[in-house]
Amino acid sequence: MTTAHLPHTSSSARSATPPAPFGTDVTWTNWGGNQSATPAFTVRPRTEQEALDAVRFAIREGLPVRAVGSGHSSSPLVQTGGVLMDMSALSGITGTDPVRRRARALAGTTINAFGDPLWEQGLALANQGDIDKQQIAGALSTSTHGSGKDLGSFSSSLRWVKLINGYGEIVEIGEGQLRELRAAQVALGTLGIFLEVELAVEDRYYLQEQITYPTWDETTATWQSDIDANRHYSFLWCPEEGSCELLDLPGAPGLSMANRSYTKRYNIAQIQDEQISGTEGARLDRSYRIYPGGFTTPFHELEYFVPNEVGLSAVEAVQDLIRTKHPDQKYPVEVRWVKADEGYMSQFPGRDTTVITLTTEPGTDYWQFFRDADSVLQDFEPRAHWGKIHFMTRSRLERLYPELDTFIQVRREFDPRGIFLNDHTRALLG
Ligand SMILES: Cc1cc2nc3c(=O)[nH]c(=O)nc-3n(C[C@H](O)[C@H](O)[C@H](O)COP(=O)(O)OP(=O)(O)OC[C@H]3O[C@@H](n4cnc5c(N)ncnc54)[C@H](O)[C@@H]3O)c2cc1C
Repeated sequence: MTTAHLPHTSSSARSATPPAPFGTDVTWTNWGGNQSATPAFTVRPRTEQEALDAVRFAIREGLPVRAVGSGHSSSPLVQTGGVLMDMSALSGITGTDPVRRRARALAGTTINAFGDPLWEQGLALANQGDIDKQQIAGALSTSTHGSGKDLGSFSSSLRWVKLINGYGEIVEIGEGQLRELRAAQVALGTLGIFLEVELAVEDRYYLQEQITYPTWDETTATWQSDIDANRHYSFLWCPEEGSCELLDLPGAPGLSMANRSYTKRYNIAQIQDEQISGTEGARLDRSYRIYPGGFTTPFHELEYFVPNEVGLSAVEAVQDLIRTKHPDQKYPVEVRWVKADEGYMSQFPGRDTTVITLTTEPGTDYWQFFRDADSVLQDFEPRAHWGKIHFMTRSRLERLYPELDTFIQVRREFDPRGIFLNDHTRALLG
């Protein structure tokens, strides 16, 4: 994406035609290559003031505004024909509080940029997902998560945010405004442009990795004990011998991976003098070095969230679907666990959750598979990952999100004219 810096001058902010160096006619495309847009203007603010100038310009010109983080969402969240704000230059840790276990960062800070600075202060993020390339505001906006039955999503750790609202003002939301904070925790970019956030973090910790390759019967036999006994437990069930390689994962040496699981267990290890180990399948290292995988080859995903009580049944329903109707789907099915939280539009309010991720190959016609998976999973009251392909509608949200009306009220208070909506988010949250 070609971008331009926005000048910080009040005269430029007043002009009807945006002065150079606004970017124009730039096509934006996401990581997976399945979403693109040609915004009227693309801006890359370097300061809060430049971000504010961009939003005020959009308000005067009657243009909608969307922010883009690292572009790793495969749902149509970022598209706009108005002003696209590339937040990557607003990056960096702005403060840490080891006593209260808090960290502040600019909105465009990528997750991997938290690792070293937090560690030096004796702190670490409580959990992380499969990659660490997302910007923190992007991760928060879709309730990005890792795995661990006692661990919440990134959004559940948000304690304060500074943002630009739809009036073109900079406002703050803290723990004294729980109603607004729970809306901001997962907002899909619709409350405004996040500038800076504060997260609850943990004392730093080392993780011991353990990779195993059980058969499906062995996976189900220890289902609950694995969930309960490990800080992080997750697995990728492989329908075919070659499934692991599709995600660049090493298969089991000397064993066919067909109907086996590639399981990951990460538990806290007490070590001295940084005795880290790079042994494959048994790494021991600082937490933030253990979590992220590679995933350099693009793929498209659908990810649904069901209550733990029906997690195993839901996974088996998906396996049946693949075996009986979509045997051409060879990617592993990933299964993870996330603790309940209170964000109004989070996938996790009120229920400890089993996460089921279906991965497909770009360029193939996977739509019937995703539609069938959506249909099969309806029996389990699924919520959906906002940053992945899904089939959620407003009426489904009304059934599944008890605080949907509260979220929409808060959204309208922050952005009464809906300048931060696009077609996708208007249909869901307008
Ligand atoms: C390879 C890969 C691995 C992944 N692994 C996981 C995983 O393990 N767990 C998981 O839960 N998800 C995972 N995801 C999904 C990913 O975490 C989410 O889609 C996340 O939102 C992407 O962050 P981003 O910075 O790329 O945001 P984008 O995709 O660029 O944007 C996402 C949303 O955030 C909004 N936004 C971004 N910045 C701001 C801002 N400053 N102010 C207001 N709104 C903003 C955008 O408008 C948009 O609505 C993965 C995706 C990929 C491609």
